Amino acid sequence: MSSKIQVAEQKIKELSTLLEEYNYQYYVQDAPSVPDAEYDRVFHELKQLETDYPNLLSANSPTQKVGGAALSKFEQVTHELPMLSLDNVFDSDSLNDFMQRVMDKSNLAETAFCIEPKLDGLAASIIYENGVLVQAATRGDGLTGENVTENVKTIGNLPLKLRGENIPTRLEVRGEVFMLKAGFEKLNKKLIDAGEKPFVNPRNAAAGSLRQLDSKIAAIRPLAFYCYSVGIFEGELPNSQYDRIQQLKQWGLPVSSEVKRVIGEQGCHEFYDNIAEKRAALAYEIDGVVYKVDDIGLQQKMGFVARAPRWATAYKFPAEEAVTVVDNVEFQV
Ligand code: NAD
Repeated sequence: MSSKIQVAEQKIKELSTLLEEYNYQYYVQDAPSVPDAEYDRVFHELKQLETDYPNLLSANSPTQKVGGAALSKFEQVTHELPMLSLDNVFDSDSLNDFMQRVMDKSNLAETAFCIEPKLDGLAASIIYENGVLVQAATRGDGLTGENVTENVKTIGNLPLKLRGENIPTRLEVRGEVFMLKAGFEKLNKKLIDAGEKPFVNPRNAAAGSLRQLDSKIAAIRPLAFYCYSVGIFEGELPNSQYDRIQQLKQWGLPVSSEVKRVIGEQGCHEFYDNIAEKRAALAYEIDGVVYKVDDIGLQQKMGFVARAPRWATAYKFPAEEAVTVVDNVEFQV
């Protein structure tokens, strides 16, 4: 083996071990040890090395996996359809790769995209049977999540029963559990007043609150939920991502009012600029925008890679300047 490959192999090992430790702190302990921007930097360094040395890519690499293992203190739920992550891009060059993938399968200038805020919370799968909420689970490692049904039932803006016509007999909605900024500030003040440790950010507060064994604690935490997709379903649904979201709304499910349908790449850029401007004024944290090919048929044609769909991408905002210090660890927020 040439020494260049040996160096790359050693570096891949180091970065993988580091990311596994960060993942454990973030997904299992709900207590990140580094800012997201640093995690993303290491993740992309590893991804680049694996692209440069494809023979060194292992199926167990953190770049091939979703999230973290489900906590054993919860009953485990096997997702009937895996819950994937999203491809992340941080600059227009990488965004061009996504647009190129779309272009390979359709006429980009005429392609409709469903554009959504990238909510900064944690993903959940919620199953309704005959319109009644029967099960809720975290994403976990994408295949197995934690049963958090009792906690999810306490989320104020989520209906226990759907309303309206033609509701599928079985419907899995997927979306983000998050905490409003104002609720987060209040919660942290309460924790500090009580001499307890505050949460680093609303995302970790939401994750820590949802993954409480005692649903009475989850009930008093200011959690909210927005749907952004459908998993399994038995019944009829529109063949467009945007129309599906509107349909979920008609059945009484909460969705972000920022979701829009635009045509072509230009529409995507305009949406990004627009929401980046109003980001600070939104009641909840977002860390980017998600571009999704609107047509479900085209989504199916584009398919998936290991941990993410090829028909969607998250365009993340650059890390903000402000710095928060918790337990001597600095966090960009
Ligand atoms: P991600 O957060 O980059 O993207 C996927 C997730 O986005 C989905 O699972 C879903 O929860 C969420 N999402 C929000 N709005 C959505 C929408 N409209 N449509 C679809 N999904 C939407 O991916 P991830 O795999 O959950 O986490 C990776 C990210 O988490 C990293 O990029 C990093 O920022 C952060 N992280 C940080 C640390 C750390 O130590 N600081 C550790 C691990 C992960």
